[in-house]
Amino acid sequence: MGDSSPSVPEPGVGNASSDAGSAGNLAGRRAVVTGAGSGIGAAVARRLAAAGATVVAVDRTADAVEEVAAEIDGHPLVTDLSDPDDAADVGEGADIVVNNAGMQHVAPVHHFPPDVFSRLLTVMLESPFRIIRTALPGMYAREWGRIINISSVHGLRASPFKSAYVTAKHGLEGLSKTVALEAAGYGVTSNCICPGYVRTPLVEQQVAEHAVLHRVPREQVVEDVLLSHTAVKRLVEPDEVAELAAWLCGPASGSVTGSSFPMDGGWAAQ
Ligand code: NAD
Repeated sequence: MGDSSPSVPEPGVGNASSDAGSAGNLAGRRAVVTGAGSGIGAAVARRLAAAGATVVAVDRTADAVEEVAAEIDGHPLVTDLSDPDDAADVGEGADIVVNNAGMQHVAPVHHFPPDVFSRLLTVMLESPFRIIRTALPGMYAREWGRIINISSVHGLRASPFKSAYVTAKHGLEGLSKTVALEAAGYGVTSNCICPGYVRTPLVEQQVAEHAVLHRVPREQVVEDVLLSHTAVKRLVEPDEVAELAAWLCGPASGSVTGSSFPMDGGWAAQ
């Protein structure tokens, strides 16, 4: 890039804590994390802030995201990503984008409500596209950027009754790889993290509903339903996902792009 490009922040400035670890020092970097009010997004926001990044914590739930932002000295941004035009503004000025906001709906295809299908695709695919689209020019100018898409094992494998979710996550995988190819010459990487079941409110709710519906104990739902595909017989923890996201921003990550990282206890190995 030309001499007129804004300079990349010097390493070592700012206030990364001593546990910055594999993320390196992200001081001077602006990280936009969607769905930061809960679960994986909150863990990623905390982890990137611990590495020194200034975090813009995005969520539609005001109370939750304001609490997380206050805790990490970040900036809350209350936005509903079901409006792609609102999503476009979210990417402004980002050095790191973590597309994480998401939800689930379970129904057979022939009963799946079309409006719900459309909303899931908007929040989990079109809005990530709009955020990335806005963020890339600044990343290109600064010759550094990190796009991290929180996909799922369902970006790599299908399950019945989750047509919108599986479709959105497979689409996100394609978007991530395309961005990786276009952005590689500018020091910008794009990758997916593909967790299996993670211990978050999204999953706790599914477990509780299933337990009531089938009149079985919660533990049995986790063991017999959630972990039936996995070799590692426990849920993934949000902090484990956050640690991988941090590594993808770190000094050893420059050649890692267009990749998808299952963190699924071996599910996708089958
Ligand atoms: P969660 O429900 O704990 O958190 C999701 C957050 O996204 C919430 O704070 C919610 O308010 C926010 N959100 C949802 N719709 C939004 C919208 N329209 N606009 C703005 N914010 C919105 O869920 P989680 O388990 O932490 O999931 C986070 C991501 O990880 C999702 O993309 C999910 O598909 C993915 N994932 C989760 C698991 C799992 O087992 N929990 C597994 C694989 C992938």
